[in-house]
Amino acid sequence: TNIVVAIDGYSSCGKSTLAKALSKKLHFIYVDSGAMYRAVALYFLRNNVDMTDHEQIAQALQNIHLNFHSRDYQTHIILNGEEVSEEIRLMPVSEKVAAVASLHQVRVEMVKQQQRMGKSSNIVMDGRDIGTAVFPHAQVKIFMTADPKIRAERRFKELAPKNPDLTLEEIFESLAHRDYQDTTRAESPLIRADDAIILDNTELTPDEQLQFVLDKVLP
Ligand code: C5P
Repeated sequence: TNIVVAIDGYSSCGKSTLAKALSKKLHFIYVDSGAMYRAVALYFLRNNVDMTDHEQIAQALQNIHLNFHSRDYQTHIILNGEEVSEEIRLMPVSEKVAAVASLHQVRVEMVKQQQRMGKSSNIVMDGRDIGTAVFPHAQVKIFMTADPKIRAERRFKELAPKNPDLTLEEIFESLAHRDYQDTTRAESPLIRADDAIILDNTELTPDEQLQFVLDKVLP
């Protein structure tokens, strides 16, 4: 059977950095499940999908085709043939995505696609519900946390060069709001799986985090 490494945690905790490093080390496929929800949110924004209308949501989901391309261990997400990897990281999508991800129909479809990916290869997948809902039997589960201030600072360093108007305060608020939405939603809220190992990376470098997982978690 295939091996699944499930990494869940709050926004901007370094999940994708660790997931990429692990996938490179282990030669597993890396799947960024958040990018899938972000691409759906982008489609909803562009097409003014009414989130209270089940018909419209169903129609939109039928029209959305997602693909991942991996080049140099960077993941590129393709929405209906268009590379949207950069656009899905911008503020409009970040503000919308948690609401879109709370929709039952959206989750059912994304989880189905994610489970299919786990059937065909060994994977590292990061997100919010990977160890709880998508792969409850994953062989390795990690739950990541970090000090909210540090998380906002890290995200600020990443975004500031391209977004000169963005303030640290705004980022802090936006992360806090998204964490609130993700942990309080009705369906598959962000919660640590009983068998997930906690990794608080407030004071750990990316290399130390990778080593932690290789030493303590992998058999
Ligand atoms: O990981 P990232 O911050 O890119 O995820 C964006 C959003 O997508 C999260 O805040 C959450 O609302 C949603 N998400 C989810 N389930 C996942 C991954 C992401 O609901 N497995």
